[in-house]
Amino acid sequence: MGKVLVLLMGGVLLVSAGCRGPKPVLTPRYSQAPENPDLHSASQPWLVRVVHVDMELQLDFESECLVGSAVYSLQRSDPHEPLILDVASLDQISVHGLDGEPRGFHLGDTQERLGQALTIQLEEFDQAVRVRWKTRPEGEALQWLGPEQTASGLGPFMYSQGQAILTRSWLPIQDTPGNRISWSARVTAPRDLRVVMSGEGTGAQEIPGDPSRLVWQHELSLTVPPYLIALACGRLERRAISPRVAVFAEPATIELAATELGGTEAMLVAAEKLFGPYLWGRYDVLVLPPAFPFGGMENPLLTFATPTILAGDRSLVSLIAHELAHSWSGNLVTNETWEDFWLNEGFTVYCEQRIIEEIFGKGRSEMEQALARTDLLAEMETLEPWQTVLAIDLDGRHPDMGFSWVPYEKGALLLRRMEELVGREDIDDFLSAWFEAHAFQSASTADFEEFIAAGLAKLRPGAMANLDLNLWLHQPGLPDDAPMAISESLLMVDAAVSRVIAGTDPAMVIDAEWNTFQWLRFIHGLGQDASPELLGTLDGQFGLTSSGNAEVLCAWLELGVRRGYGGIDERLEQFLLTVGRRKYLVPLYDALCSSSEGRVRAQQIYLRARPLYHAVSTQTLDTLIHD
Ligand SMILES: [Zn+2]
Repeated sequence: MGKVLVLLMGGVLLVSAGCRGPKPVLTPRYSQAPENPDLHSASQPWLVRVVHVDMELQLDFESECLVGSAVYSLQRSDPHEPLILDVASLDQISVHGLDGEPRGFHLGDTQERLGQALTIQLEEFDQAVRVRWKTRPEGEALQWLGPEQTASGLGPFMYSQGQAILTRSWLPIQDTPGNRISWSARVTAPRDLRVVMSGEGTGAQEIPGDPSRLVWQHELSLTVPPYLIALACGRLERRAISPRVAVFAEPATIELAATELGGTEAMLVAAEKLFGPYLWGRYDVLVLPPAFPFGGMENPLLTFATPTILAGDRSLVSLIAHELAHSWSGNLVTNETWEDFWLNEGFTVYCEQRIIEEIFGKGRSEMEQALARTDLLAEMETLEPWQTVLAIDLDGRHPDMGFSWVPYEKGALLLRRMEELVGREDIDDFLSAWFEAHAFQSASTADFEEFIAAGLAKLRPGAMANLDLNLWLHQPGLPDDAPMAISESLLMVDAAVSRVIAGTDPAMVIDAEWNTFQWLRFIHGLGQDASPELLGTLDGQFGLTSSGNAEVLCAWLELGVRRGYGGIDERLEQFLLTVGRRKYLVPLYDALCSSSEGRVRAQQIYLRARPLYHAVSTQTLDTLIHD
C-alpha cells in the first residue's frame, strides 16, 4: 500500500513500510522477563518472541470451521528455548520448519478457558516456523451464523471476537496483550461473500480452477496485540463516508448505517484535535448482525459495532466515540496484562466524554457522565470488594471475572479527578505525553504511577498532593473525592419522576422532546414505585414498547418485567430472540429469573435463543438461567 511511517519515540525506532514480511521491533519491555508476567498466557515472549504472523485461512461455512496455516517470524534471545504459543479448542495441529521438515511439539494440559500451551522445539537456525491447524465449531472466538440469523437473511456470516483471550481459539498465538506483532493474511471464502479484517485490505483475487471462491488479502504493518486481530465474512456492502471513513453492513442495514454513522469523520477530526494525529490510516466501521455480543469492539482500522446503535436519530453514537478513542488508549497504548484493563477502558471513557463534549456540547457530556456514575454505584453494590479495585487481582481468575463498569467508569473518574486538580490544559498535556511516550507499546499500572510521579506530580506538586493515587488504584470502592457530574436536564427529569409517582398525569410533565438519556433516567427513576397500570398509561402515551432506541427499549422492558407489566411480553420475547448484545441480555434474563414463573419463561426463551448468541454471552447466561 506504500504507506510509510517512521516514528522515533522513547528510543525505540519503529519503521513500517507497506510491504509484507517481518519487521521486528524489539520493545525494551521484552528484552527481559516482566515483573508481573501475564497470568493468562503460557507464552514467554522474552525468550522466543513472535514478531510477525503470515496467515493462510480457509473459511468452511458448511462445517463451521476455519482451516489455517501460518508462518511465524521469530526473535530469539535464547537459542535453546522453545517457542510457546497459546491455543484453545484447535485440532489437526502440525508444525514444520521452513525447510519443510517437521518440528517436534507438545500440547500441554487443558486449563479451564485458558486453553493449552503449544510448545515447539526449534532448530538452532530456525528464524520462522509454519503451524497448521483447524478450529472446532465450539471455539469461543468465532461465531458462525446461518442466513436466518442475519439481518438480511441472504447468506451465512462469520466473525471473530478476540478480547480478552479468545484469539487463541482461532489462531495459535502468543496471546498476551504485552506482545505486539504485525500480520498479513490471505483468506479464502465463497465468492458471494466479502471478507473484512482489522488491517489494510488489498482486494480479492481469483483462484485458478476454482470459480466458486475468492482469496481476500489484508495486512497490518503497524504492530498490535493479538486480541486486536479480527476478521468477519458475510454479505456485506460498503458506503464511503469520507476519504478515510467507510461503513460496511448487511444489505438490510447499510442505508441506515451510512446515515446514522455519517458524523464519524467529524468525530475523528475532534479526536485528533484532542489527542494528536490518528496514526492508523483508515477508520471504517463494520455493523454486524444483531447476534454480536458487544456494543462495539475497537478492532484497529475497523471498529466492529452492534446494529443496536442504529436508533435512527444518531442518539447512540457515543459508542463510536468510545471505539474511536480506543485508537489512542488501548490500540496505540495497550494494557500490559488484563489486570491493567482499566488503563484501556478508563482512559477511553474519559476520552470518549471529551469527544462528546467537543461535538455535542458540555450538557450532553454531563448527562452521560451523571448516568454512568449512577450505573457504577448501583453495580458496585452487587460486586465483591476485589472487583472494585482498578488494578485488579486476577490470580486464578479469568479476565471476564474482572469485567464490570469499574475499569470503565471508576477509571474515567480518576482522570476526571486529575483534571479537577490540575486543570484542563495540564491534563491534556498529560494525555498527549502518555500516548506519545507509550505509542505502539503496552503499559502497566506501575508505568502509570511512575509516569505521574516523574511528570504531573513534579509539575503540579501542590495540586497533585491532594490525590491519593494508592487509594484510587489499589483499594476497593469509590473514593470520596470522585467527581460528581451535575446535569440540569436530568434534575428536571428527577422532578418529573416524583410528580408522576405522586399521581400527576405523565403527559403533563414529560416533554415529548426528551432525549435518550432523559428517558433512561426517567425509566430507572420509576423503579420500585411504578405500578403495572402506570406503565400501561405511559406506554399508551409514549409508545415505549415500540421504541426503536435499543437503550430505552431495554430499560423499559426490564422495568416492565420487574413490575409485572404484561404489555411488553411479546416485544420482550422478540427482542431476546433477535439481539445478542450481552449488555441487554443479562439484565433482561436476570429480571425474568427474579420470579419462579419468570424463570420458567426465561428458560423456554433461552432454549430457542441460545444458538443465536455468541459464546461471550452464553458464558454469562448459562449460569444465570440455570442457577
Ligand atoms: Zn472500550
